[in-house]
Amino acid sequence: MHEYSVVSALLGQVNAQARRHRATAVHRVRVCIGELSGVDPELLASAYELARTGGICAAAPLEVVTVAARWQCPRCATDLARGSRLACPLCDAPARLVAGDEILLDRVELEIEDEPARPAEAKPAAAKLAVATTEVAKPEMAKPELGRDWEASHV
Ligand SMILES: [Zn+2]
Repeated sequence: MHEYSVVSALLGQVNAQARRHRATAVHRVRVCIGELSGVDPELLASAYELARTGGICAAAPLEVVTVAARWQCPRCATDLARGSRLACPLCDAPARLVAGDEILLDRVELEIEDEPARPAEAKPAAAKLAVATTEVAKPEMAKPELGRDWEASHV
């Protein structure tokens, strides 16, 4: 199922981030899922529940942010009304999907150990870390023959 490969890519990226920052635990994971991404947020959540067991994300809840599809005219930047014809009402240029097909790892909260040589009683402070938006996987769903703009593609 598509959601399982997305989760496996997601966990791979979270693990890479955790290694890069020498994190000891992951507290929270947030993904942005576009409504046209072909990913079902509920299936994604249940796939995550299965896949995270025993891994670094075992105690990290998954937050899924769904992103509505948004179409825009590439020529005059007019936003198209939801459900309207996919062409610009002003200049008739074919609309471009600017949001709604993304599958993004939006944020990971990591716990990072303090530097070693600290007094024993000093509990390492938990560092909350916002990781820059990273693309998890490209959607598999066939797209209309219109350009995409990944820039600013998360809410
Ligand atoms: Zn236009």
